[in-house]
Amino acid sequence: MSTEPGFIVPAQARPTAPVAGSELVWPIRRVLCVGRNYADHAREMGADPDREPPFFFTKPADAVIPASGHVAYPPLTHDLQHEVELVVAIGRETVNASPDEAAESIFGYAVGVDLTRRDLQNEAKELRRPWDWGKSFDQSAPISPLVPLAGVLTSGRIWLSVNGDVRQDGDVADMIWGVPEIIAFASESIRLLPGDLVFTGTPAGVSTLRRGDAVAGGVAGVGEFSFEVSQD
Ligand code: MN
Repeated sequence: MSTEPGFIVPAQARPTAPVAGSELVWPIRRVLCVGRNYADHAREMGADPDREPPFFFTKPADAVIPASGHVAYPPLTHDLQHEVELVVAIGRETVNASPDEAAESIFGYAVGVDLTRRDLQNEAKELRRPWDWGKSFDQSAPISPLVPLAGVLTSGRIWLSVNGDVRQDGDVADMIWGVPEIIAFASESIRLLPGDLVFTGTPAGVSTLRRGDAVAGGVAGVGEFSFEVSQD
């Protein structure tokens, strides 16, 4: 066995996201996602929306890509699904925050899609395994440019269409846990830092995407996006 290292691994800069109306870029740190945060979606997933505090899973920072152009169709799945979500960008260190304090940590918002290999997620649920293979694959978190917007977004239409057919059509006002509560809960568990992104859950209407589908969506007051699912 050789003692010579076979690789030279360059230090990687953080993945970034564009900031709307600015030359600045957002250095992405951690990506947290809330599960089942709209009652109608919790019901369509077979869960009781009334009984649980928010729970989180994560995606790698380099899963975030622009929600434009082409997005890869991932391997291993026959049921890639879309979940349109309001995404919150954390602008400062946040630890054990109250909801009021958490509201002061908001840098701004984007619209994102929590792409999900539903068949792998369902298998993981059945086998009591982690969700990572269902949720945390490459290019699984396309987002629009970040919009600096201090304060709490409490309402606004959130929607997604596939090939012009509106599949998800809800309102941010219908979130079970609002943005400040979500940040406050997360900050009890981990130290949130500038660069963190939080996907805040999806309304009902999730459905299967196919290669070549045209996906569009938006949140009123934040932005809109459109991309195509890759043919290969
Ligand atoms: Mn989701």
